[in-house]
Amino acid sequence: MNDWNYGCLFCDAKFLKRKDAVNHTYDNHSDQPRIQEALAVKARKQELKQIPFVYDPAEKLKVFPKYYEKLKDSFFHLPKLTKRMFQFSSKLASNRLAETNCRDQVVFVAQKVLRRDAAILDIMNNRNLQIMKGTLMHLEILSHEIAHWHTRGGHNSQFYAKQKRYFDVLINKLISGELYK
Ligand SMILES: [Zn+2]
Ligand SMILES: [Zn+2]
Repeated sequence: MNDWNYGCLFCDAKFLKRKDAVNHTYDNHSDQPRIQEALAVKARKQELKQIPFVYDPAEKLKVFPKYYEKLKDSFFHLPKLTKRMFQFSSKLASNRLAETNCRDQVVFVAQKVLRRDAAILDIMNNRNLQIMKGTLMHLEILSHEIAHWHTRGGHNSQFYAKQKRYFDVLINKLISGELYK
């Protein structure tokens, strides 16, 4: 039987407790890109926690149907907006920002996201987790969830190509001012 349970990924150090192994790795190998990335994410999460819950989720949710209509102006194939298409939910898993029911075409946005009007997002899957706030965050979430509709499989290249088409159109409408009309 081993007298250790956790080995360091970068050197020969061994530890009994996971916590000690993690602390060792952060302290001794902070120059490793993987560790730098993990530390950056950790810092972002701390930063996000400092943003207080100040918004009414029902009020914030209203931007989604509004922006959806703008998107539909350019993509006629999208289904007609319904009253229940966008909802907020307090029941999503803690790491989820939003979820979509593809069959019924309903999007659930996490209540905490709306109350902060901020979230950590991997914008267009570029593996660069950033805190996003306000409109840019709404557009990223909207284009992502809508892209799941009638798309086979999960987060594959076909999916991201579709999201990019939606996102780009929304960004152009944001720049031209049409989004807020
Ligand atoms: Zn080590
Ligand atoms: Zn997704």
